[in-house]
Amino acid sequence: MSQTDKPHKIYLDNQSTTAVDPRVMQVMLPYFTDYYGNAASRNHAFGWAAADAVEIAREKVAKLIHCRPAEIIFTSGATEANNLAITGLAQNKQNLKKDHIVTIKTEHKAVLDTCQMLEKDGFTVSYLDVNPDGVLNISKLTDAITDRTLLVSVMHANNEIGIIQPIAEIARICAERQVVFHTDGAQSVSKIPVDFSAWGIELMSMSAHKMYGPKGIGALAIRRKNPAIRLKPIQYGGGHERGLRSGTLPVPLIVGFGAACELALNEMAEESRRAAKLRDMLLSGITSELDGITVNGSMIDRLPGNLNLSFTNINAEALIMGMPEIAISSGSACTSSSPEPTYVLKALGLSDDQSYSSVRFGIGRFTTEAEITTVISRIVETVKRLRQ
Ligand SMILES: *Cc1c(COP(=O)(O)O)cnc(C)c1O
Repeated sequence: MSQTDKPHKIYLDNQSTTAVDPRVMQVMLPYFTDYYGNAASRNHAFGWAAADAVEIAREKVAKLIHCRPAEIIFTSGATEANNLAITGLAQNKQNLKKDHIVTIKTEHKAVLDTCQMLEKDGFTVSYLDVNPDGVLNISKLTDAITDRTLLVSVMHANNEIGIIQPIAEIARICAERQVVFHTDGAQSVSKIPVDFSAWGIELMSMSAHKMYGPKGIGALAIRRKNPAIRLKPIQYGGGHERGLRSGTLPVPLIVGFGAACELALNEMAEESRRAAKLRDMLLSGITSELDGITVNGSMIDRLPGNLNLSFTNINAEALIMGMPEIAISSGSACTSSSPEPTYVLKALGLSDDQSYSSVRFGIGRFTTEAEITTVISRIVETVKRLRQ
């Protein structure tokens, strides 16, 4: 079977991306065909309809994370939101006296690579270790903050191991020390409750395609009061989105993002329970039949739909190849011809061998119990065969 042949039958890679919910798709469609105006066109009804739709969507996104609609800036996704948050803050003239950033080793590349870029510009960056369970030790953070610290960037939930960081507490510490706090919420928003305002978050990145919305749209939430966070834009043009993100708004995508947020708000509690139940079923099904299984990361501070397992004496690539009808992802990043063990598992203290034997399972809205039953038996079968 060629790689582009047919999609896998069972999709358990929901941390990588999610299907667009058919209900989201329905809401988007008229904005491609009927209401296709430019939201910046002020002179006709096509433009007004588009602008209205954008503002309604903005309210829905804001409601999900408890911020004000005016605090939402639409971007192409969480990668861009992370870039805008970190670079925009660092390059703002008001902030030039401070030149230190604190982050953690398990961040997404969109944060780590942006920080690395700023290091070349003269910033100092502290990349903090996490505990073996993946959670940041708060005392490490308080020790790392200095008078020169401009920004702390700690993700809410991790994309590989699903570990949830104590961001309300981190935000409180940052407020005390007068340091700006940014969090990458791409994995957490829609899965677990987020309260941007009450927790005192100042910058938060989001992505629609991790929550059953379309690819190519996301947002950065930017606190506008007590204190107002000022950013230098990273792209220039028509002055859209308060001058922070120029470019014609992708109205259908924004409408879809709004619809996805509304569904998430209504269904989060029920969906989390269901995902956690399927996840626990998957784990107990595998461990009751197989030895040499370890869970990577805490099972407590974890997204309900995530499981990351190491299979002793198994090469994850071989396991995945042995079950071509199941879409899961290995613990190694195949960005080059020779896969490298992922830095996230390394940060938990796993050896290269353990990383090479690790698999991520991402359970989502459309995962069924029958699929989990199939996956358990296919895993057990394949691991037993490979271990022989
Ligand atoms: C997917 C993801 C991103 C990137 O988001 P895009 O919208 O695809 O750019 C960033 N951070 C985390 C934690 C993610 O899971």
